[in-house]
Amino acid sequence: MDTEKKNPVYSNTDTSKVLLSDEEWQKILPKEVYNIARQKGTERPWSSKFENFSEIGTYYCAVCGNPLFRSDTKFESGCGWPSFYEPISKGSIIYTPDNSHGMKRTEVRCGRCKSHLGHVFDDGPPPTGLRYCINGVVLDFAKAQEAEKKYNEEGTKNKTPGTDKD
Ligand SMILES: [Zn+2]
Repeated sequence: MDTEKKNPVYSNTDTSKVLLSDEEWQKILPKEVYNIARQKGTERPWSSKFENFSEIGTYYCAVCGNPLFRSDTKFESGCGWPSFYEPISKGSIIYTPDNSHGMKRTEVRCGRCKSHLGHVFDDGPPPTGLRYCINGVVLDFAKAQEAEKKYNEEGTKNKTPGTDKD
């Protein structure tokens, strides 16, 4: 899946907030990502390649590249969607009350681009007791080593020039 097609905001290291119009999102995102991330869609249960996936590494927002979850917080919830018990950091996720479909739920969105990711429930395992139920379509995965390499490369690229003393 080509999630990085002409996506100018995608970065695993840039933490600045992303604010684009719906029109712009539609232009830069693959259709299935757009539908879930921006239209709050839900992928079919058991349809994600990440549902039964246990590689070690980092999960990123497929929309903007923001790091969201570490593989060691992923667990088998049996609910049909990739599930995690803890986000990578407090700021990586934002929470919004969601009372749609006659249910009281908490929507989980990307802290950088505000894309819809899924929902969080309080029936998860320790230590948090939370279950972040996430659409696999909006997740990007990088193996531990690749992630580190990517981070270092981007880190060098993004270094601000001209910071040396006179
Ligand atoms: Zn994002």
